[in-house]
Amino acid sequence: MNVLELKQISKIYSKNNGDRIKAADDINLVVKKGEAIGIVGESGSGKSTLAKLIAGMIEPTSGQILFNGEVISQYSRKALKSYYAKMQMVFQNPLDTFSPKMKISSYLIQPMLNHGYMTKSEAFKHLSQWMMRVGLDGSYLDKYPSELSGGQLQRVVIARALSLNPQLVIFDECTSALDASIQKKIIDLIVNIEHEAAFTSVFITHDLTLACDICDRIYIMNE
Ligand code: ADP
Ligand code: MG
Repeated sequence: MNVLELKQISKIYSKNNGDRIKAADDINLVVKKGEAIGIVGESGSGKSTLAKLIAGMIEPTSGQILFNGEVISQYSRKALKSYYAKMQMVFQNPLDTFSPKMKISSYLIQPMLNHGYMTKSEAFKHLSQWMMRVGLDGSYLDKYPSELSGGQLQRVVIARALSLNPQLVIFDECTSALDASIQKKIIDLIVNIEHEAAFTSVFITHDLTLACDICDRIYIMNE
């Protein structure tokens, strides 16, 4: 079964000065259940545009995006909310996703409560388990983002994304902002969790070698 399918997807950005930028041109892509797909391309080739299109953050200029066989742009509000629980994104710069005054516990617990899966006490139990799985002890829950390193923050972001048991996870250059030694640890973590938790993944990177190491199939984006 196809978890995700992109059919003839194009995206043209119109700038204020009237310029038009074709960031995605007739992209066709299929991701089957359980696959780890790589999308590889140079900077500016339209990778993040593709990630945002899949996440429903922007609309395609033409083409269709299907999730479990249904076109996401035709989702009702309710279906869209459930899509946002089933599809999770992990972006490049972890710090961008945190608000400085929010404790790690609040950041993690919010989506679980938003999506109404559990009570607060159940959510807290679930959280501690996820912290352990990403290699952080429970004491980090009580800290603020500024007290964590980039690698630790990305672990928290991964815990948050996976705590909703998503069917599909999009990683957009999720280790590019980290030091090389930390990068490898985060990649190992993702690969280990992928083996345990059954989710389908799209791994977006400029690093072909890395994609070859960890993905089942690779799509190359050309500029
Ligand atoms: P990548 O993630 O591969 O580096 P992007 O998807 O970020 O590529 O960008 C692809 C192209 O689209 C680039 O030329 C970029 O400048 C342009 N672009 C991205 N976002 C916007 C936007 N919101 N408005 C106008 N142009 C954009
Ligand atoms: Mg990008």
